[in-house]
Amino acid sequence: MDYFEGGERINLMQVLDNREWREKYQKQLMASFPTAVITSVKLNLPGPIKTSPKLQSVFQNIINDLNPVFKDLQIIKEASFVDQITGPEIFFVTSGCLKLVKKIMITFEESHPLGRLLDLDVMCQNADKQLSREELGFTPRKCLLCGKDAKTCIKEGNHSLAEGYSQINKMLHNFEKSKMIVPQMTQSQVVNAALTGMLYEVSLAPKPGLVDPISNGAHKDMTVFTFIDSSLALQPYLNEAYRIGNQFKGTDLPRMFSLLRNAGIRAEKDMFAATNGVNTHKGAVFSLGIMVTAVAYATQKSITNLLTIQKVISDMTQDLVKNDLVKNNLRNSQNRQTAGERQFIKYKIPGVRGEAEKGFPIVMNLALPFLCEQQGNFNQRLLNTLMKIAGNIDDTNLIKRAGNATISKDMQHWSMTFFQIGGSYTPEGLKFLNDLDQMFIKRNLSMGGAADNLILTIFLARLVGSL
Ligand SMILES: [Zn+2]
Repeated sequence: MDYFEGGERINLMQVLDNREWREKYQKQLMASFPTAVITSVKLNLPGPIKTSPKLQSVFQNIINDLNPVFKDLQIIKEASFVDQITGPEIFFVTSGCLKLVKKIMITFEESHPLGRLLDLDVMCQNADKQLSREELGFTPRKCLLCGKDAKTCIKEGNHSLAEGYSQINKMLHNFEKSKMIVPQMTQSQVVNAALTGMLYEVSLAPKPGLVDPISNGAHKDMTVFTFIDSSLALQPYLNEAYRIGNQFKGTDLPRMFSLLRNAGIRAEKDMFAATNGVNTHKGAVFSLGIMVTAVAYATQKSITNLLTIQKVISDMTQDLVKNDLVKNNLRNSQNRQTAGERQFIKYKIPGVRGEAEKGFPIVMNLALPFLCEQQGNFNQRLLNTLMKIAGNIDDTNLIKRAGNATISKDMQHWSMTFFQIGGSYTPEGLKFLNDLDQMFIKRNLSMGGAADNLILTIFLARLVGSL
């Protein structure tokens, strides 16, 4: 997800006009409240886009964190919030001495995960100049990307705007994940959320190429009932995954993962026994198992948040691509390679292992926030989320069936078309999915990877209370 999406580009004139307006407004506040300290806060973003719906909501979240900082200062006038094309801004009018307030602000800037993205101006009547960070004993602001002096990097043009945007998007994603709280739950609550993920996914219709209650898609050997049997057969495994995470002591998380993998091997046997040898949930055994274990581990002692869970997942699966794919490819003869291994050689797509190593960014940064924003009933929200995922991943299952990786480009295009005609909210959108289903059946295509990601998204949405 891109936080700058939907933002308008502004020009230098608009920036200068805004600066002039702000100076005038600050002077006006100082004249009206001559003994007060005026603190103005705005986002400090590179490039021509200074605001967007997402950035506005982030700004609001930062202000919620900033408000308590003023609690020891007397509020002289209620803070005024202004939404400008040049970005949202807020002005605080408080008691206190200039130096103290400036110190409080710099401390906030240093300690808050997004402090570096703020412009904080502190001023009062009679102060002839702004106090610098250095004068107050702080080091100069550091560059977002390399940690050197920010001024030097800007002057020397050390980084591209694209690099800047990518870093800021990462910081904003991490911030939002840190705000998504996962409460402590009982084992059955967590396991049920995981089962819900599998059962909702298969109940969702119409899905292109995938099994749902109306169509078996491109799968001749399974029906919705096969998936229900398979989900229930995996219940003991999900309980085991929870116990592994809940009881694991210490920080050697790759060891915790190896315990889970042993349980996963048994779970696959249970699954195949329940489905007469059909692979329904192999992907979920791997990724949903990891998530359940990570959640159980992260909530052993207290509530947690998605950012922490993501870190646990990355730590559990560190070097998985290197250990599993790179080494196995050297060792295994061709006919013993799994589909994922073959694709890794052929297309250099690290697949689900690579996703796990990175802490499932498609689910955490894209699908879950997207699902949270969706309106309508479960089917509408989840169909949109499925198509959003499908348009943004290299689906190894789809690639395997298509026999080439260019299918990802087609999928991107289909996903875009779906949203252009209103997504699941319109009859046209639903017809498009039905047509796509027919085409997928003809071409024997299915998007199992997107479906697996949807299962994970539903699981997490349940935990954070968004579904
Ligand atoms: Zn730099």
